[in-house]
Amino acid sequence: MVAIGEIGLDFYRNLSPRDTQIKAFKRQLELAEKLGLPVIIHCREAQQEVLSILTDWAGGSEQDKPLGVLHCFSGDMELAGRYIEMGFLISIAGPVTYRNSHAVEIARDIPLEKLVVETDCPYLAPHPYRGKRNEPSYLSFVVEKIGQIRRLPGDLIAEQTANNAIQLFRLASHLKGDL
Ligand SMILES: [Zn+2]
Repeated sequence: MVAIGEIGLDFYRNLSPRDTQIKAFKRQLELAEKLGLPVIIHCREAQQEVLSILTDWAGGSEQDKPLGVLHCFSGDMELAGRYIEMGFLISIAGPVTYRNSHAVEIARDIPLEKLVVETDCPYLAPHPYRGKRNEPSYLSFVVEKIGQIRRLPGDLIAEQTANNAIQLFRLASHLKGDL
């Protein structure tokens, strides 16, 4: 096991009462801290609450390793900047290929060493598969789109985001011999 997640708050689907979600989220963060594992954060329509809970949790301590990742990040670059300062990475997915997504701004402005990519499959398939079942091979559309936005080769984005993921989940020792 390389991380605790997804954990977080979902005030869109509200599958549990909000105070129950908050209690569970805090306990899961405590567990991650106890085990020394990074966290994968899910946040939907709960930006202020998640920011405040993670600010308390991160506590401004200087970290040499990433604390975790904001998965399928839907906030703007200003919010992303606050998480990056705390020691989190930001993950974007298929929406970067949609019109009017904050993910485009993130893809353009985020320091590349703070960015990871994901499918969120089976959800959030990138254009031209939007609305269909997503799958890992479609990540190439996400990476190519980020490359277009930054005017960089997709390969470079792929390599950097893969390295970021290896660092985030501390995979180097697991991968030794396979690379
Ligand atoms: Zn999620």
